[in-house]
Amino acid sequence: MSALAPAPQQPLTLLEDAWSLRDTAPDLARQMAQTDGRFVDGHPSPEAGVLLAYLNWRAGHLSRAVSQVGTALLDLRAQAAGPWLMRALNLLAALHSRLGQRDQAAALYEEQLGLSRVVGDPECTAIAQHDLGVTLRASDPVRARAHVAGALETFQALGNLYAAAVAQLHLVRFDREAGDLSAAQTTLEQVLACPLLGQHPALAAAAYAEELTVARVLDHPERVKRARRHLRELCAAHDHPELHITAALALSVGAQPAAALAVLTPAVAAARALGANGSLPTLLERVAEAQAALGQHQDAVASLCEVLTLERELHHAERRQGFRMLDVLHRFHHLEAAAQEQQRYTAELQAHLRDLQTLNARIRELSRIDGLTRLHNRDYLFQEGGRLAELCSAQAPLSAAMLDIDHFKWVNDTWGHQLGDAVLQRLAQMLRAVAEPGDIVARYGGEEFVMLRPGRQDALRASCQALQGAVRDHAWGELRPGLRVTLSIGVAHTEANDFDALLGEADRRLYRVKSSGRNAICAAD
Ligand code: GH3
Ligand code: MG
Ligand code: MG
Repeated sequence: MSALAPAPQQPLTLLEDAWSLRDTAPDLARQMAQTDGRFVDGHPSPEAGVLLAYLNWRAGHLSRAVSQVGTALLDLRAQAAGPWLMRALNLLAALHSRLGQRDQAAALYEEQLGLSRVVGDPECTAIAQHDLGVTLRASDPVRARAHVAGALETFQALGNLYAAAVAQLHLVRFDREAGDLSAAQTTLEQVLACPLLGQHPALAAAAYAEELTVARVLDHPERVKRARRHLRELCAAHDHPELHITAALALSVGAQPAAALAVLTPAVAAARALGANGSLPTLLERVAEAQAALGQHQDAVASLCEVLTLERELHHAERRQGFRMLDVLHRFHHLEAAAQEQQRYTAELQAHLRDLQTLNARIRELSRIDGLTRLHNRDYLFQEGGRLAELCSAQAPLSAAMLDIDHFKWVNDTWGHQLGDAVLQRLAQMLRAVAEPGDIVARYGGEEFVMLRPGRQDALRASCQALQGAVRDHAWGELRPGLRVTLSIGVAHTEANDFDALLGEADRRLYRVKSSGRNAICAAD
């Protein structure tokens, strides 16, 4: 494709082309972003940064995506509002949403919504309104519904029938959850009558899955039967992986074990083919339940073991879980023995399955360790940080330090990633050495770390100074002659119950150190 050639005169046109290829040809889009000729000092332009962040998000590199889009936003917000600012806001909001930070996601969608209204872009306005509504679903169902309904009107006015049907399906779910089944019913009928369903089997499957749920709640056996039939027909007619997953999740509820297995098996294959798919553990858990109910307990064990493996991969936990896997297998040995005693068999099996579920939850908990540095990972940081912040008061503040290795990319580029990894591991050791009992030390992402300590920031700042001394005096030359490592650190504390605001403040101070020369600590405005 000719768009591959660098075109420095019209860089934004090239990036626009690359943006439109982001889902269909991500590798090409990445290449185009990297040849857009607008790199300054090795840093991409804000627009290319947004695109690269999007591609990293899609490839599963969430923390890299967050830092890229965050950096791009700083520049884009300083310019006149345009499509790239909207894209950046939408992407960062989606990332926050993915990390469970709905408030931040909602604030960013609000910003996108306000700007797109000012710019006068109705489609972008409706998209922001729609996504905002979906995000607010749990916290503010009334506003959530109003936003999605507003977006629906715009989509209909613009003739975007696909987006309209998606919005309508959300409305059905809102109404169903609010107990307004007759409203849900009316909207659902409109979706089911939408002529686009024939061309979009995955959308059709989502609609019939919703129909199945509504009909079940209304205890309407005829409609349940019809929805089931439609879902089965869609599965038979199409290879679409998302469709099979949606259909299997809906059809396996309340089904006979054998029937459940029949729909779940192709869906598991589809989810595997999709790669990192969030539905796979749920599908496998249902498979295990059905297998156990059919007395295929060996298979049930295998399925549950796969769930465990997936959870493990998901949370970057390594060897430690190996031992816990053995523990699980050991439990299932007992399970097999119990199976021979026909009378107690069912009760025993169920008890063990419950055990396993509890154990699974515990493993999920324990797997909040970062694989490379053995520090706590980001999930744990947000969970524990949020909990500590809840306990905050004027008498009991909470302090946080955000630490970032300076010019770490240069370390990687000069000596390779293995050496970079070794630096991260040594630094993790040093962090542990200056930490006090009760501190939380976590890898925030890439080469960024966070340290939390109950109390005012002075003590934490002193520990950070000690850390900087240790890093300065460390014999880095042992690793590679000429290797030097320095840190930039932002420290803050809060008396309010707002963990994100605390991290935000520490991050702003870190940023200040970065922009005024690095290798320092900033602990004040
Ligand atoms: P600055 O001091 O201004 O923050 O520059 P920097 O190079 O440190 O920051 P930047 O964000 O540009 O680059 C961070 C680098 O960290 C890029 C990425 O390759 C590297 N990195 C992230 N995670 C890992 C990891 O797990 N191992 C290694 N070796 N490198 C990593
Ligand atoms: Mg960084
Ligand atoms: Mg850095």
